Amino acid sequence: MGNYKIGLQGILFDAKSSFMQGPALAPPLIRKAYNSPSANYFSESGKELTPDIWSDKGDYKIKDYFEIESITADNLTKVQSMITLGGDHSITYPVLKAVHNRYGPVHILHIDAHSDLYDEFEGDKYSHACPFARIMEDKLAGRLLQVGIRTLSTRQEEQAIKFGVEIVAMKDFDLRSIPKFDTPIYLSLDIDALDPAYAPGVSHHEPGGLSTRQVLQIIQNIDVPIIGADIVEYNPNRDINGMTSMVCAKFLKEIAAKMIMNKL
Ligand code: MN
Ligand code: MN
Repeated sequence: MGNYKIGLQGILFDAKSSFMQGPALAPPLIRKAYNSPSANYFSESGKELTPDIWSDKGDYKIKDYFEIESITADNLTKVQSMITLGGDHSITYPVLKAVHNRYGPVHILHIDAHSDLYDEFEGDKYSHACPFARIMEDKLAGRLLQVGIRTLSTRQEEQAIKFGVEIVAMKDFDLRSIPKFDTPIYLSLDIDALDPAYAPGVSHHEPGGLSTRQVLQIIQNIDVPIIGADIVEYNPNRDINGMTSMVCAKFLKEIAAKMIMNKL
């Protein structure tokens, strides 16, 4: 793979979860699944993604929410592009602040059962139900495209209209209906976008979701550079036989392969 390295950081943080804790435990388990001898390091495109492709910055225990921004900013000075392992979805706002600082407004592909557009949730503006409201208010994203949504409340629909968010709702999902991007993107992947049958290890089981294959196809169809990505909301406390950790590891591999193929 030459000298090209992808940054990797784990954020051990789930204090902004509204329903149950657990995602703070995820990063080391996703790494373990990635390196499991039950599988090899080849992506489906035939790229071998051995551990030396990573510039691994390790896992961070977070005390103060906005530490996530400074940690990410520091790591971004050392790599060209980075994948962040969460953690609950609240981490995406401070990560995006750091990404914006480096790249300017990015276009975001957000795959999730939920829009995460609440102005505040249970009194917290930084809840994992709110990161995309904060991102849009701060104009960190040029464009926000959400895919897999199946829980849109009236309040969130109003927010989506206000911020000009594009939504491919799960009920209308068709791979060909996903609009194309023409600039580099940031990919934010909430594992609860998947049907719980494929990924039981999440806090919020929302039936009727994407299959593992559909998410892989969305990733594989990206034809612009990916400047950064996160995989969030994996909750090991809810997993069965580590199945969801293998799903996360598979996505990590396919996103990394895509980052290498569509280099900035
Ligand atoms: Mn989410
Ligand atoms: Mn979600």
